[in-house]
Amino acid sequence: MDIGSSPEEMRFREECREWLHANVPAEKRPLDAADAIDFDKAWQRRLFDAGWAGINWPTDYGGRGLSIVQQVIWLEEYAKAHAPWIGANFVGINHGGPTLILNASEEQKAYHLPRILKGEAIWCQGFSEPGAGSDLAGIKTRGRIEGDELVVNGSKIWTSFAHVADWQELVLRTEEGSLRHKGLSWVICDIHAPGITVRPIRKMSGLTEFAEVFYDDVRIPLANVVGGLGNGWKVAMSTLSFERGTGFIADQVKQSQEIEELIAKARANGMIKDDRIADQLAQMRAEVAAVRAMTYRNISEVVRTGQPGPEASVIRLFTSELGQRLERMAVLLMGEDIIDFAYGSDDAVGDYLRGFAATIAGGTAQIQRDIIGERLLGLPKSR
Ligand SMILES: Cc1cc2nc3c(=O)[nH]c(=O)nc-3n(C[C@H](O)[C@H](O)[C@H](O)COP(=O)(O)OP(=O)(O)OC[C@H]3O[C@@H](n4cnc5c(N)ncnc54)[C@H](O)[C@@H]3O)c2cc1C
Repeated sequence: MDIGSSPEEMRFREECREWLHANVPAEKRPLDAADAIDFDKAWQRRLFDAGWAGINWPTDYGGRGLSIVQQVIWLEEYAKAHAPWIGANFVGINHGGPTLILNASEEQKAYHLPRILKGEAIWCQGFSEPGAGSDLAGIKTRGRIEGDELVVNGSKIWTSFAHVADWQELVLRTEEGSLRHKGLSWVICDIHAPGITVRPIRKMSGLTEFAEVFYDDVRIPLANVVGGLGNGWKVAMSTLSFERGTGFIADQVKQSQEIEELIAKARANGMIKDDRIADQLAQMRAEVAAVRAMTYRNISEVVRTGQPGPEASVIRLFTSELGQRLERMAVLLMGEDIIDFAYGSDDAVGDYLRGFAATIAGGTAQIQRDIIGERLLGLPKSR
């Protein structure tokens, strides 16, 4: 598929470039989620007001109804303009919203989608539990049906942005005695509902971006179930395909910039004369080009089917591991400046420490390899 080369797409690219050039904030986004929340909301509102939020979301819910190709053009220009990471809006924009578009009722879409786009409602993802991370089918948090409500008990862990969120995409067991993939439901949970306790967790980078969440007789209206009671596994799989596929386009675009910046740095400090470093940089530049090609292929798939398939795991895996190689190289190129590293800082060391999470979050590298082996290559099940 040819991406971005029609006259209309080229005009659109120019429009993106001009707006970003005039509007990207001069100040940096604060690093910690709690410190960054006002910044993230204000930036999302500015994007929305100017028509740059939800480029490929339906117009009925505040989007622009343009194509996914135009969405990608926007993300490419966004990265080139060094525009801020969308931060706390990540879940809502990248997989909560797209999951609702595909699976939710009219009422649910009409209420939630515009609020996500305007940055008024921050979403978080309550999938992982102690004992059910990779093995999502092992979910134990349960919702007992009482009248027109679910009464929820249990706990979730590693919930990014939970301590700054308003809503949660919560997967829980709603059929008593059900096993594995059956009897799960995907529900919209008000994170401020009585009975919810959010306990933030500090990462090794010094930042606080995720939390534990505890549910003690929390009441959620049955009207908040998305895609029907007991269909949670199917809805969750669509969330994961967005999270692992289109959700990471921005990162892949950023990597093409990072590699060029690293090469420029190695030239400037003379380290490029070391053949091992020059070889590694060349290898990574080729890998960045390969990720770009895979991404374009995945976008063609989305255009064809409306949703990324298991191929998304190839991109997710390759991008996260390549990101770690890039971050390691950035630290190497710092030379003795590394000694000045401060916890929670916005430098190459901070990125390097944060990068370890990339091959865990959204499904570990091993799990992505399992999916690629079983669902794409047709290999026997690993267990
Ligand atoms: C920065 C960050 C943000 C996150 N944000 C969220 C969030 O917002 N919401 C959310 O719900 N979760 C979130 N997570 C959780 C993440 O999805 C889980 O950590 C991940 O799915 C792994 O689950 P686990 O930690 O329970 O590890 P486990 O599943 O216990 O795995 C431990 C190890 O065993 C390996 N393993 C397990 N099963 C297999 C298998 N079948 N084959 C091969 N190897 C296997 C794993 O790959 C891993 O190396 C986040 C994690 C991180 C690091």
